[in-house]
Parts: sequence; structure tokens; C-alpha cells
Amino acid sequence: MRIAVPKNLLALDNILPDEPLLMMGAGPVPIPAKVAAANGIVINHLGDTMAQIIEQVKVMSRYVFQTEAGHILGVAGPGSAAMEMAVVNLVVPGSKVLSVCNGFFSNRLAQMAQRVGADVVQLNIENGISASAQLVEQYIIQHQPQVLTIVQGETSNTVYNSELAAIGAIAKQHNCLVIVDAVCTLSTMRFDMDEWGIDAVITGGQKGLSCIPGISLVGFSAKAWQHIEARQDQLKHWCLDAKLADQFWYKKSYHYTAPVSGILAIHEALRLVCNETLSVRFERHLRCSQALQAGIEAMGLDLYVKPQARLNSVVGITLPQGIEGKALLNTMSKRFKVEISGSFGPNIVRIGQMGEQCRAHNLFRTLHAFGASFNILGSKLDLPAGMAALEGALNQFEFSEGL
Ligand SMILES: *Cc1c(COP(=O)(O)O)cnc(C)c1O
Repeated sequence: MRIAVPKNLLALDNILPDEPLLMMGAGPVPIPAKVAAANGIVINHLGDTMAQIIEQVKVMSRYVFQTEAGHILGVAGPGSAAMEMAVVNLVVPGSKVLSVCNGFFSNRLAQMAQRVGADVVQLNIENGISASAQLVEQYIIQHQPQVLTIVQGETSNTVYNSELAAIGAIAKQHNCLVIVDAVCTLSTMRFDMDEWGIDAVITGGQKGLSCIPGISLVGFSAKAWQHIEARQDQLKHWCLDAKLADQFWYKKSYHYTAPVSGILAIHEALRLVCNETLSVRFERHLRCSQALQAGIEAMGLDLYVKPQARLNSVVGITLPQGIEGKALLNTMSKRFKVEISGSFGPNIVRIGQMGEQCRAHNLFRTLHAFGASFNILGSKLDLPAGMAALEGALNQFEFSEGL
């Protein structure tokens, strides 16, 4: 053997902190104990046990996506793999794609469409506002795209596209398939695949669903699935070929070795969503996020996006002069063992409000760590006012005992 055994290896115990940090950034997010336990199990990826689990994952996904007949497929991979699965299966090389771009992740969808050889028109939305259905309609009429891509929530700059229902309806009139990235929003706020006429929905495990990273779901409408089945050209992507993935997800046979632990974990995450019900879960997310926002403002800080276009799943906070994002994040994690996220551009930091992040105890600890870190760094905030505003807002919440 030419390569020697590596020296000075550390066990994970010597690398990880003694107490896990509280993950309050833009993902991954904390996972419930049932999800963590499921992720520790490996079973046969084929056979009756797995078939029963897959069946339930599909049924529960249809509820979470709000689709009666949507074709559900899982992906071993990040949210980006699910984005790519939707894009490569629906976008035919040489066809026209309209990409509504609000930021980093919606741009990624445009890049993926370019890479499959589409003629991509980008509709760049002004910073801090939702894409207007009227403007999207103008672009659809002008460019006649076969596929439109858009995000429900733009995690990178905390903008929310509020007119998806109208955009879906317009696209339908013009026979254009709609791909929606709902990675950070699914199960945190309303999403109605069938009612809005969405043809492909994308989600990842580690955000709205409060599951592990690396397992993702895609839902295709009946129309999208017909389009996929009718395609004559061979996809360049083997792993992401929906017709091959269908072998595993609908025909109990082999595509690639399924990420069994991840599927068990997402089964539990979906089951917890079903137990809670979507309406209660949406209410919990809304109330928690609004209470956090009230607390942040009461301390004397500004939120980055105006209320009309503000994403609740990830809250963006403008950094005041004299405070550096990195120093703030460092202080929060070192002194308080709470992690939040920096930014991909604007001068903001971001606090996640997805899944288990929306619990009262996590909110109090995070807001305290946040405000106290500003004070430590010499930017004096009214921390008691912030904590009182959070407390006051949470107490008005009718499900407050469920937090
Ligand atoms: C995080 C995120 C993604 C990408 O997910 P990965 O698992 O990092 O690939 C895509 N879209 C949105 C809106 C996201 O928030």
C-alpha cells in the first residue's frame, strides 16, 4: 500500500461542540426526534416494507402539495437536485423558458434551464418586491415560453412571490408549464398545487419540512407527466430521469439504491405535518414569524423587505452601521450557541422560521442571543423591549399551548 494511514484523526466527539448549536439560520433546521430516529435506520430499499413506506410518502406528499393526482417522486440529493429533476424533465433542449428571477435561487433555476440548452428569457424582478402577475403575463405573451420557472420564497433575500395563483392561471391559458421552487416555503405557508395550476413543485428536506438535508421531493401535475411520457429524446441525466425514477416510485423496482434512511426520515417529517394539519402548521409559522419580527423591530432594528413582499419563512434583518454580519454570527454561536445565517449579497442577516424553528422556546433563545450579541459588539439595542414584544405577540396566539 503506497498511501499511509492518515495520522491524528479526531473522532466526531472531538470535533462537534459538546452541546449542539441551535440551528436558526436559513437551513438546515432542527429536526424532531422521530425524524432523527428514522434517519438512523437502514432497511432493504426494495420489498414489501419499503413499498408500504413509499406508498405513504406519496399519499402524504399529495396532501402537503395539495394535489389529488400529482405524480410524486423522491430524489436522493439536495433541493437543487429536485430543481434539476423538474427542469431537465420538463425543459426540452431548444425550447423557450421564462425564468422569473428575484434572487439567488430563482437565478439557479434559470442557469439549470440554460444548461439543458433552452432559450432562457429572464424576467428580473426589482429588489424587495413580489413578481407581479401582470408583468409575467406581458412576458408570456411576448416570448411564448413552453416552461416558466419561479420560486415561492426567495430564501436569499427574503422576498415572497405572493401572486403564484394568478401566475399559474395565466401560464395555463398560454399552455406554459409552471415549475415552482417551494423549498423553504412548503408546509410553512399556503401552497395549492392543483388549485393554482402548478405543473412541478420542488421541495428539499432540510427547510420547511424540518427533515434532514439530502432527500428531496418533486411533484408533477398530470399534464407535466404526460409531457414527460411523450418525450422522444433521451435525457442526458440518468439519475434525474423521471421515467427511470418512476420504476422505483411507482413500479416497486430498481432505479438506484434508494436513500432509505432519508426516505424513512421524510416519511416521519411528512407524518408530523399530517398530524399537525396544514392549517394549524401555517398558523404556527405565521404567528411565530410575526412575533419574531415584532421583537426585532421593538429592539430598534429594521426588517429588510416591506410587509407586502416579506417572506415569513426566512426573516431578513438589515444590519445597522458599524455591525459586521460575520462578527454578529460569531458572537451568537460562541457565546449563545445559536446559529443564524449571513447573506449572499445584501447587508442583512437571516433568521429561519421553518418547521421546528417556529417554537416558542427557540424564539426566545434566538431573539435574546441576537439582541445580546449586538450589545456585546457595542451597538446598543433595547433588548428588554424586544423580548417583551415577542412575549406579547406569542401570547395572543390561539394555539400558543401547542408551541
Ligand atoms: C435552500 C434552497 C434551495 C436549494 O436547496 P439545497 O438543498 O441547498 O440544494 C433551493 N431553493 C430555495 C428557495 C432554497 O431555499
